[in-house]
Amino acid sequence: MNHQRRHTRHIRKSGVTFEAGQGVENKDLAKEFSAVAREVWGPIIDKITLHARVGSDRPHMAALVSKGGHGGRRLIGTHLCRAKREYTLEVKLEFMSLTPEQRRKIMVHEAVHIGCGTHNSTFQKICTDHGGAVCMNALNKDVEYAIQTKPKEGRTRFKDLKVFSVRGEAMAYGKSYSNEHRNLRVRIQTR
Ligand SMILES: [Zn+2]
Repeated sequence: MNHQRRHTRHIRKSGVTFEAGQGVENKDLAKEFSAVAREVWGPIIDKITLHARVGSDRPHMAALVSKGGHGGRRLIGTHLCRAKREYTLEVKLEFMSLTPEQRRKIMVHEAVHIGCGTHNSTFQKICTDHGGAVCMNALNKDVEYAIQTKPKEGRTRFKDLKVFSVRGEAMAYGKSYSNEHRNLRVRIQTR
């Protein structure tokens, strides 16, 4: 109760117009969300405070609420160059009974919102690159990460080398394969 009131007041003070302060603070979820956000945006995330609250009565399964900092351009290409000071991930109670993979897909989606306010093409690219759900319909679809190669010379197409279901494993494989095969272009394709 106290938490809720304090949170709402802070947000009002910062001049942000949304209604916030719903749900109960959950530090474990905040930790989980921070790890996901760091995977998406890199070490810049360490400069931002991320909170999480469970039990929101918003219409969506999850929402990202922010306060402080700049409202201007946040991306250079697909790199986050600045962000607001604090973000809160607010999720409905049902979120906690989703599978870890479903939760991750939603958290990637919300983490991408730190850099992209809308669901534009940049948002969609970053989101799918990290195995996030672009929309709720994508939640139950399995994501595959294919490591693909093609010769640096000539006009051949990329071909699948190996397919993974865990992004980190695909990235590690792709990196070491690329180091050992300097004559090849190696890329990761999410689908
Ligand atoms: Zn969204």
